[in-house]
Amino acid sequence: MSAEQAPVVDKEPVIGGNAGMSSEYLEVRDLTVSFDGFKAVSGVDLTLLQGDLRFLIGPNGAGKTTVIDAITGLVPATGSIQKSGVELVGKKVHRIARLGVGRTFQTASVFEELTVLQNLDIAAGAGRGPMTLLRRRSGILPEIEEALETIGLQDLRDSPAGILAHGQKQWLEIGMLLVQNASVLLLDEPVAGMSHEEREETGQLLRRIGGQRTVVVVEHDMEFMRSFATSVTVLARGKVIAEGSVADVQANPQVQEVYLGTAAGGTEIEEVAAAAESEGAS
Ligand code: ADP
Ligand code: MG
Repeated sequence: MSAEQAPVVDKEPVIGGNAGMSSEYLEVRDLTVSFDGFKAVSGVDLTLLQGDLRFLIGPNGAGKTTVIDAITGLVPATGSIQKSGVELVGKKVHRIARLGVGRTFQTASVFEELTVLQNLDIAAGAGRGPMTLLRRRSGILPEIEEALETIGLQDLRDSPAGILAHGQKQWLEIGMLLVQNASVLLLDEPVAGMSHEEREETGQLLRRIGGQRTVVVVEHDMEFMRSFATSVTVLARGKVIAEGSVADVQANPQVQEVYLGTAAGGTEIEEVAAAAESEGAS
């Protein structure tokens, strides 16, 4: 890793660490998404500041993916979503992407037969003008070089993306968002299926890129959340039921009940009650 990235890596998690006058932000107000009258997301408020590494947690079906879909324009929504003062609700998917809002999907979506470099090249080309294409002829774009280093895939740049390990594909996808100049990154379960080591590396990667950006991570893994979240929002049945630091949220009895009760899937009521009790007692 380069020296200039070191301070960000070493930084302890702090809520809205880089918040300031010139900071970017995403402000969601009264966000509601209905599918045939069923409110999958209902009156959600979220304020995300630059430098924040926000975890969005909640049981299956809570509406986490739908929140990301609404922010990125994939599903119609009501309410307001402002990125640094610009309203996103009602804008088309490609407009929202060009405004610097990027996302990943629960299943990786890289071009398997193309190399790592080609994947990044395509992402960098999306939405760019002829000047970029001109510059690209003379070699690798500096932002691609930088992204390769940030995601740690320099040595694999000429390998087909299809041979990458599961974790490396997710990092490539994050790299693709970086070369698109996304300043808001919405990552839907990025560490699902990763080994412990890959999770640690992903967390470090998110810290490195998070300083200058707003990062939202949808995640189930509590250990991963505890290690890397600067703040947490808990969603259940389409509504925000708690928000704050990891400690705040973990101490919240409603979160323990709702989250443990459903996310554990198949956990007996007694077990959940016992778990909530011992959490409270400790
Ligand atoms: P999560 O990501 O938290 O697991 P989702 O956002 O995927 O939850 O889903 C929230 C709720 O909305 C679920 O009940 C789901 O079945 C429903 N839902 C999601 N997408 C659609 C859709 N396109 N049409 C109908 N219902 C949907
Ligand atoms: Mg989901």
